[in-house]
Amino acid sequence: MPAVSIDPPLSVWYCDECRLPITDVNLGTVSWKSPTDLNPHDGQVRHDFPEKLFVLHKGACDDSRTLPKSYDLNFITGPLGMQVWSEFLWRGPKAEPMDFVPGVDVKPIMELFYRLFVPYYEQARRHFKAADGAGFLDGRTIFDEHDLKKFIEDSIN
Ligand SMILES: [Zn+2]
Repeated sequence: MPAVSIDPPLSVWYCDECRLPITDVNLGTVSWKSPTDLNPHDGQVRHDFPEKLFVLHKGACDDSRTLPKSYDLNFITGPLGMQVWSEFLWRGPKAEPMDFVPGVDVKPIMELFYRLFVPYYEQARRHFKAADGAGFLDGRTIFDEHDLKKFIEDSIN
């Protein structure tokens, strides 16, 4: 049986490109495509919100040509970082950086919230069936630390 290794909470993230851990908050970034996607036929807005936010190794796995918008991980973690993200949600329609409009699907940003602020969620989500922006486990949205740690241990063993 392999040794169970549970990451210290809120200090290790897994790169969505290379899948390797990001163990230094100063070496990570969260990147996304420009949310505004215009239909080339009629010029109408198809998407006003990032469909996925990528946690990446900064300067290694990120690519500003394909994911032009980003924040350094150290800017959007911790108590100040939580307030940065909360500001986008509370202000409602906001031009930058997300181009929020009413009625958008906020699952991608909520999943990022969990990755950045819920202890053990980042490691546990790697074992969810769909470890992506829709990766809330079986529709659950509330996890306690014990449940997530047990989920990680059960998945590893
Ligand atoms: Zn990487």
